[in-house]
Amino acid sequence: MSSTEKHTTENDFSIARKKQKTIDEQNTPETSSDSVFSDLEEYETNTNPSTAHINYDLYLETINRKVLDFTYPKICSVSLKTTSIYSCLTCSKYFQGRSTATPAYRHSIDLGHHVFANLTNLKFYILPENYEVKGAKALESLNDIKKQISPSYNDKQIVKLNQPDNFGIDLNGDSYVPGFVGLTNMNGQLDYANVLVLALSHVSNIRDFFLTWGRTMGNCDDGDEIIYDRSEFDLCDLFGLTVRKLWFDHLFKKHLSTSELMHLIEIKSNGKFGNSGEAHNAIAGSSNSVGKTGHKSVKDFFVWLVNNLNAELKNSGLKSTILTKNIQGKLENENDKTKKTIKFWYLTIQLPSQSLFKDSQKPVVEQFELNNLLKKLPFRIVKTPKVLILHIDRDTTKQEIIGINHLNENVVRFDPDCMHFSGKKYRLITNIIIVAASEMNSDGLEQLKIRYKVQLLDKTNLHWYEIDDLKVEKIQKEFLEFNLTSLQFWETL
Ligand SMILES: [Zn+2]
Repeated sequence: MSSTEKHTTENDFSIARKKQKTIDEQNTPETSSDSVFSDLEEYETNTNPSTAHINYDLYLETINRKVLDFTYPKICSVSLKTTSIYSCLTCSKYFQGRSTATPAYRHSIDLGHHVFANLTNLKFYILPENYEVKGAKALESLNDIKKQISPSYNDKQIVKLNQPDNFGIDLNGDSYVPGFVGLTNMNGQLDYANVLVLALSHVSNIRDFFLTWGRTMGNCDDGDEIIYDRSEFDLCDLFGLTVRKLWFDHLFKKHLSTSELMHLIEIKSNGKFGNSGEAHNAIAGSSNSVGKTGHKSVKDFFVWLVNNLNAELKNSGLKSTILTKNIQGKLENENDKTKKTIKFWYLTIQLPSQSLFKDSQKPVVEQFELNNLLKKLPFRIVKTPKVLILHIDRDTTKQEIIGINHLNENVVRFDPDCMHFSGKKYRLITNIIIVAASEMNSDGLEQLKIRYKVQLLDKTNLHWYEIDDLKVEKIQKEFLEFNLTSLQFWETL
């Protein structure tokens, strides 16, 4: 992002925030602050004992950093409530409340675990005594945990991300490259989402915007906290938090999970995407339902996520957003006489269907040049985006061979360093690919299973990495084009 552009964005935000603050003040009854919190909070704040003679270092040695994991939804493991959630820093479980009779209090008595972190305000408490940890030395020793819960970045740290040889070391002594971290594929169902979150977080301007999102949104120009309805921005908040963790160089573990983000997405998308829901990657292979029953497509999730993030960003009063400025283009349909301009997030490349070998039921794999496929697009580009996103359509419902739907396995050839499109030159920065395998299901029927992997360019040294769930490995650029590409991000040169 150029400095001018960034300035404009922050400026726009502070104007929008101040407007919001005025509206909030006008509409908020005096007692409303109580209603935001559960009734537990009310007596939590009144139960602090006298703290004059407390040794704040007491119990801090019981913290077990190696088990801590703050990537899960903020839900109490006992009551399933979602307000006033604390993490036990000995066993990493989440509990509600602090005062007598709350699950956190009971946990501290039952298991003798004493140090708890409030996951919203990042304060630390000792239970069952119920006092807040204060004292400069004690708080400094807990700073690393605060950063695991919510990493933050200053401008210098963001500049560092664009320099080569940036690496982190986790508590096991394993090194990793920030931004290129493996993501847990919960129940084998989240690969479509994980690869997309990684892909979006590698568009530099979008990454930098979300690295400072909390900073921009939480403070006025003078640094004072401002009041506004955070729930209006909850998707941006959690997406931003995920991006901040992905690029953090002091992770306790060198891999993460998108579970908290996907929990929110599950609610917002009415179960279309998320942690639970139907298995997305098993496609019944011997019936006509092949491909018609649901594997979740990375392209569908991309459209949902970008539209919903963009809608929230527009709520803050901005005309154009970080997404429209970077990944949205405009086109004119050549067959449309009205010459209506259509905005697009991505372009679909139609692959010719596979043909069959003579005297065989096996489909032939053919190769097609991306440049030639692009020339066949039936429209004129009015505005090229800074980052062009291409979707290679391999939809299993479109290719049927002897009554069975197949994944289109034709190969798209391209030069990752140079693609010409609509008068602009692009380089590939992200390649999301499909891995397909046939498996026998419990009924002895053949089943096609697909999942996604992502290949990402490290722009600081031009190395390519492939991320397959938790596995991260360096790969050769020359082999990128010999995969079943699904979604590609091309950046203007
Ligand atoms: Zn515990």
